Amino acid sequence: MNKLAIVTGGGSGIGLAITEKFVRTGIRTVIIGRDKKKLDETQHRLGALCEPVCYDLTCLSGIPRLVQDLHKRFGQIDVLVNNAGINLKKEFTEVTDEEFQKILRTNVSSIFALSREVVKVMLDSSAGGAVINISSMASQYGIPKVIAYSASKAAIEGMTRAMAVELSPKGIRVNCIAPGFIATDMSAKALNNDPERKQKVMSRTPMGHLGTPANIGDAALFLASDAAKYITGIVLPVDGGNSIGF
Ligand code: NDP
Repeated sequence: MNKLAIVTGGGSGIGLAITEKFVRTGIRTVIIGRDKKKLDETQHRLGALCEPVCYDLTCLSGIPRLVQDLHKRFGQIDVLVNNAGINLKKEFTEVTDEEFQKILRTNVSSIFALSREVVKVMLDSSAGGAVINISSMASQYGIPKVIAYSASKAAIEGMTRAMAVELSPKGIRVNCIAPGFIATDMSAKALNNDPERKQKVMSRTPMGHLGTPANIGDAALFLASDAAKYITGIVLPVDGGNSIGF
C-alpha cells in the first residue's frame, strides 16, 4: 500500500500500536514525539517503514515548517492521526492557569495547527486524505480531578465535527476514536494508585477488562482505510462497552 501516514505520539502506548498496525499493512508511517530515544527504539522494532521525527508539538510556530519538510521528503501525506496527548490528575481548585494552558496547548492547539498544515498538503493532492483524532471518554463523562484533560478532549470531538463538515466535500474524511480505559503508562498513572477508581472502571465495563493499545490500532487502521470511505465526522467509542455500562 503506497500511503504515507503521520502518527503523533507514535513512540509509545496507543500511538505505537497504531503505528505497528499501519507499518504491518505497508503504510510508511512518520512518528512524532519529543523523546528521540523512544522514537529510535520504535523504528528499530518496526523497521524502515517507520520514520521517527523528534519534535515538540507545543512549538506551534514551527509546525508549518515541519509539515513542509515532511511533504518535501515524502511527496504526499495521506493519513494524520492526532494521538499525542498529556493528562493531569489534580483537584479542580489546585490546577493553575499554566497547567490548564499546557494541557490545552498540547491536546488542542497542536492538533489544530498540525491538522491545518497537513490538510493544506492533502488538498493539493487529488488523492484526498483521512484525519483521525484521539479523544477520550473524559469528553463525555464527568470524571473528577481531570478538568483540563476533559476540556481538551471535548474540544477534540467538536473540532472533529467542524473539520468533517468543511473538509469532507473536498475529499478529506475526519473521524475521532474515543478510547475507553486502555492499558498504557498514562492509564496506569491514573488508575494504579486509585483502587476505588479502578474498581469503578471495571464494574461498568461489560467486557470485564481494560482494552489494549492494539484495539485502538485496529480501529484507526479501519478508519484510515477505504473500508471506511463513507464514514466521516464520527466519534467511535472503543471501550469494551464502558460507555453503555451500568
Ligand atoms: P502515552 O503517554 O503512552 O503517549 C502519549 C504520547 O504523546 C507519547 O508518545 C508522547 O511522546 C506524545 N507527546 C506528548 N506530548 C507531546 C508533545 N508536546 N509533542 C510531541 N509528542 C508529545 O499515552 P497513551 O498512549 O495512553 O495515550 C495516547 C492518546 O490516547 C492520548 O491522546 C490520550 O489522551 C488518549 N487516551 C488514552 C487512554 C488510556 O486509557 N490510555 C484513554 C483515552 C484516551 P514523547 O514522550 O516522546 O513526547
